[in-house]
Amino acid sequence: MTPPWSKPLEVERLAEATAELDFAVPLQELPGLRSLRGGVGGEVHGRAHFRRLRGLAVAELAVQGTVTLECQRCMQPMQLPVDSQVRVALIGSEAEAARVPEDLEPMLAPGGRISIAELITEELSLALPIVPLHEQGTACADGAPAQAEEAAEVTQTPFAQLAQLLKRE
Ligand SMILES: [Zn+2]
Repeated sequence: MTPPWSKPLEVERLAEATAELDFAVPLQELPGLRSLRGGVGGEVHGRAHFRRLRGLAVAELAVQGTVTLECQRCMQPMQLPVDSQVRVALIGSEAEAARVPEDLEPMLAPGGRISIAELITEELSLALPIVPLHEQGTACADGAPAQAEEAAEVTQTPFAQLAQLLKRE
C-alpha cells in the first residue's frame, strides 16, 4: 500500500481548494535523506496548507518531530528536534523561479506535482546539519569516547577487559 505522503499531489488543485493536509512521515522511508552520512531515523509530523498567493501555488509547511542522526564524532545516535515553518512557492519549471517573490522559497514541482515526502525531504535537507555532531558539554564533545576510538584497539582494550573482569567479580 502506498502511504498518503508519498503520492504526488496536484498543487494547482490543492491551492484552489486551499487544502490542508496533515502528515506523519517515518524519515527512514524518504529516499532523498538516505544519502545523509550515517543514515536518518525518527519521525516528523505536521501540516501542509496550500493556497494561492500572487498567482502562485504556495504551500505553508509546518514540520515538527525528532530526527535521529549518527554523530560523526562518536558514531552514536543523536537526536535533533525539528520545528520548522516554511512557505514555498511551487513552480512547474525552473524558468518560473524568476516570478517568485523574495519572501517565498521556490520549490520545483515538475508538471505541477509534488508529494509531501518531497516537500519534507527538500525542507529537511536544508535544515539538517551536513556533519551532525553531539553538542558541546556532552561526553562525546568532551572527547572521551570518540578520541579513544582509533587508539582503542591498541591501548585500551586490555583495560576495558580488566574492567569487565572486575565488574564480574
Ligand atoms: Zn557524538
